[in-house]
Amino acid sequence: MPGTAPPEWTQIDLTSRRGGAGQRITAVILAVVGVAGFALSFRSLAPWWWEFALMAFGCAVIVLLAAGLWINAGTSVASTVALQETGAAVVLPVVAAFETSDESLRYQLQLRLPTVDEEFVVHACGDRRCVAAGRAAPDAELPVLLDAAHKTWGVVHDAQGS
Ligand SMILES: [Zn+2]
Repeated sequence: MPGTAPPEWTQIDLTSRRGGAGQRITAVILAVVGVAGFALSFRSLAPWWWEFALMAFGCAVIVLLAAGLWINAGTSVASTVALQETGAAVVLPVVAAFETSDESLRYQLQLRLPTVDEEFVVHACGDRRCVAAGRAAPDAELPVLLDAAHKTWGVVHDAQGS
């Protein structure tokens, strides 16, 4: 459509169901640690109200973190499932790669979308496969799930995502 700016593409961080379950297990462990820490310190710290208040606050923060992790696991699994249902598996060429100083996001990869007006998206990642693609760029490709209708996409990092 001429004259109208197309909506931006949204990258979905493809979370496997196993990955989502792992996050939830971490969340439960965190919550247990928070509650147990509070319960255990309750008796010994009760006479010192200031230490007790600090301890209670720390435990509350841990439990809140756990809740956030649990909710986040749910939403990322939901958007992954949506993309897996509607998206098409394509292989996108990596046209450029930039090494970053961030240890967890080793490479920024520029991928060319198979659309008529030559759109590009950027995937920042430290995954083994993406680092290898970054080193091999511009002679590299990455498997991607693409939903042109919803303008969502996500790099497939393991066989589970296909
Ligand atoms: Zn990646």
